[in-house]
Amino acid sequence: MENKNMQKDKKYTCPMHPEIQSDQPGNCPKCGMKLVDKDKQQARKGTGRLLPLV
Ligand SMILES: [Zn+2]
Repeated sequence: MENKNMQKDKKYTCPMHPEIQSDQPGNCPKCGMKLVDKDKQQARKGTGRLLPLV
């Protein structure tokens, strides 16, 4: 697992297609869903929303 500082190197991925990875926000080329921040997606799996981590 990558466990380095990913603040600068953010990756965006599609919730439905983990193989889709982009270094900038956008839409999934397969389903058109909005790409989500990979870190937050892992932290909050199952939800379609990005909840703030308090
Ligand atoms: Zn997709």
